[in-house]
Amino acid sequence: MLPVQKKSKSKTRTRRSHHRLKRVGYVLCPKCGSAKLPHAVCENCGLLNRRVSLKVAEKGK
Ligand SMILES: [Zn+2]
Repeated sequence: MLPVQKKSKSKTRTRRSHHRLKRVGYVLCPKCGSAKLPHAVCENCGLLNRRVSLKVAEKGK
Protein backbone atom coordinates (compact mmCIF):
# COMPACT_ATOMS: atom_id res chain seq x y z
CA MET A 1 0.00 0.00 0.00
CA LEU A 2 1.14 3.49 -0.77
CA PRO A 3 -0.13 6.79 0.57
CA VAL A 4 -3.00 8.17 -1.48
CA GLN A 5 -1.32 11.52 -1.86
CA LYS A 6 2.15 12.80 -1.14
CA LYS A 7 2.39 14.98 1.99
CA SER A 8 3.46 18.49 1.16
CA LYS A 9 6.68 19.94 2.56
CA SER A 10 4.55 22.26 4.67
CA LYS A 11 2.57 19.39 6.23
CA THR A 12 5.76 17.42 6.94
CA ARG A 13 7.55 20.39 8.43
CA THR A 14 4.54 21.43 10.48
CA ARG A 15 4.37 17.92 11.97
CA ARG A 16 8.10 17.95 12.67
CA SER A 17 7.91 21.33 14.37
CA HIS A 18 7.08 19.42 17.57
CA HIS A 19 10.14 17.16 17.36
CA ARG A 20 12.59 19.45 19.10
CA LEU A 21 14.16 18.37 22.38
CA LYS A 22 13.14 20.01 25.59
CA ARG A 23 15.62 22.13 27.45
CA VAL A 24 17.27 20.36 30.38
CA GLY A 25 16.19 21.82 33.70
CA TYR A 26 18.87 23.07 36.06
CA VAL A 27 18.77 24.26 39.64
CA LEU A 28 21.45 26.19 41.51
CA CYS A 29 23.15 24.48 44.43
CA PRO A 30 22.12 26.25 47.66
CA LYS A 31 25.58 25.72 49.14
CA CYS A 32 28.02 26.65 46.38
CA GLY A 33 25.71 28.18 43.77
CA SER A 34 26.83 26.08 40.82
CA ALA A 35 24.29 24.64 38.38
CA LYS A 36 23.25 21.05 39.02
CA LEU A 37 20.52 18.66 37.97
CA PRO A 38 17.53 18.55 40.33
CA HIS A 39 17.46 15.55 42.73
CA ALA A 40 21.13 14.85 41.95
CA VAL A 41 24.27 15.32 44.01
CA CYS A 42 26.15 18.55 43.34
CA GLU A 43 29.40 17.67 41.55
CA ASN A 44 31.17 20.68 43.00
CA CYS A 45 30.54 20.32 46.75
CA GLY A 46 28.77 16.94 47.06
CA LEU A 47 25.60 18.32 48.57
CA LEU A 48 22.43 16.32 47.99
CA ASN A 49 20.15 17.94 50.54
CA ARG A 50 20.42 19.39 54.04
CA ARG A 51 20.77 15.95 55.66
CA VAL A 52 22.80 14.08 53.06
CA SER A 53 26.15 15.28 51.81
CA LEU A 54 28.79 13.20 50.03
CA LYS A 55 32.53 13.69 50.06
CA VAL A 56 33.85 14.78 46.68
CA ALA A 57 37.50 14.48 45.66
CA GLU A 58 39.07 17.91 45.22
CA LYS A 59 40.02 18.88 41.71
CA GLY A 60 43.45 19.99 40.60
CA LYS A 61 45.42 18.35 43.40
ZN1 LIG B 1 27.31 22.60 45.42
